[in-house]
Amino acid sequence: MEKLRCLIVFLLVVSCLPTSVAQQKPNIIFLFCDDAGYADFGFQGSKVMITPNLDKLSREGVKFTQGYVTDATCGPSRAGLITGKYQQRFGYQEINVPGYMSENSKYLGDDMGLPLDQKTIADYLKKLGYKNAVYGKWHLGNADRFHPLKRGFDEFYGFRGGARSYFPYKNFNGVHHDNKMERNFGNFEEPKGYATDVLADEAISFIEKNKNNPFFIYLAFNAVHTPMDALDEDLEKFPNLIGKRKEVAAMTLALDRACGKVLDKLKELGIDDNTIIVFSNDNGGPTDKNASLNLPLSGTKSNHLEGGLRVPYLIKWPKKFKAGTVYNYPVSTFDLLPTFYAAGGGDVKDLEDVDGVNLIPFVDGSNEARPHKYLFWKKEARAVCRDNDWKLIRFADRPAELYDLSKDITEQNNLAFQELERTKEMFKKLFDWELTQERPLWMLKQQFEKYDIDRMDRYRTPELVKKEMEKYQKSEQNTTTIKN
Ligand code: CA
Repeated sequence: MEKLRCLIVFLLVVSCLPTSVAQQKPNIIFLFCDDAGYADFGFQGSKVMITPNLDKLSREGVKFTQGYVTDATCGPSRAGLITGKYQQRFGYQEINVPGYMSENSKYLGDDMGLPLDQKTIADYLKKLGYKNAVYGKWHLGNADRFHPLKRGFDEFYGFRGGARSYFPYKNFNGVHHDNKMERNFGNFEEPKGYATDVLADEAISFIEKNKNNPFFIYLAFNAVHTPMDALDEDLEKFPNLIGKRKEVAAMTLALDRACGKVLDKLKELGIDDNTIIVFSNDNGGPTDKNASLNLPLSGTKSNHLEGGLRVPYLIKWPKKFKAGTVYNYPVSTFDLLPTFYAAGGGDVKDLEDVDGVNLIPFVDGSNEARPHKYLFWKKEARAVCRDNDWKLIRFADRPAELYDLSKDITEQNNLAFQELERTKEMFKKLFDWELTQERPLWMLKQQFEKYDIDRMDRYRTPELVKKEMEKYQKSEQNTTTIKN
């Protein structure tokens, strides 16, 4: 009897400990890379890239075959995912890189950023008791008022802008503040090593400090965005490649190593079963810039073919999702906010006006419907309406094109004229959606529309892409060219 009483007292004490309640909430780690090719991971079918850690993550989790971003370029894509909605709804339609913008824009330079009335994933998770950290590329505004620590994050080590060197700057004083590595607010501190490795180490140190409370880490690697900085020992692993393709392979290897270090730490601490891991990428590979490969998707970063919009997308959550699940309906990165909020015990009805949906019931099979009947994308006159598996692309310089993605993932067989009624209906649907959007807060110079269209046409067919890729393969002829 005495033993039983002791046991009851013990159980009561344990159940009242705040940490035991908190620990029920899953930790969340979002591994996000930059400008990677759709095809450039082992789990996406690459025979060139070496990505054992991410391949393992894919086997242990859910692989989405139609994971989308909300835009084909860095800044708007990040604005959509971090707010859980179409970023055009608050005027974040264009990239926000100073120097590329029209002088007629409402905001320019450091004033281009995520409007302060928009709530972020971190704002919402904070309400649920999460400790939040962001490491790496921010790209949601350079001015102090847009700083991560003012957008729901408790810790930051990274840079405010869109791209920077992977190595410490030697001439630190000459570098603009948005490119400097910054610890929390205003403490500029260059990385002691290769940035991809350093960012993972920062995340690991945060995990160690927060292993007893629920945490969210947004680990936004700048890999594999330009500049093409790679470590010699990583380059050596790809003796058959040359040029930028060799560099992107080495940068991807470093990215995989960094992700692996984080995943191993969770296992070591025994918290991997209660941690949700997401891996994705912010926009399609810009083949011309970093020799990334999107096949079988056509197109690249900054255009609306699948190669610009569809990205690798994995979620591992051992407690909820069966290992090795493949999920085939389209999802978007703006679904992560409601998914994380629901996973953390929040009621998605509390979310203010989001477009994303909680993916949990769809992935665990309790809801067999599509998460989204419609998806939309837009930049200036160019826009896309996806209705089930039909995809309408509207252009500024040519008639609209219509593809049946269930049969034509490479978008080679334009059915717009054969399916005229469907084309007309989808035009209307797209227009209805556009009417609900805000005008852009800033605009690219018009000339860059031509750049995006030219880039799309350059990588419009698999034949064009394969031809370009040949130049990165070591052969006698290529070796001679390089020596010369
Ligand atoms: Ca990007």
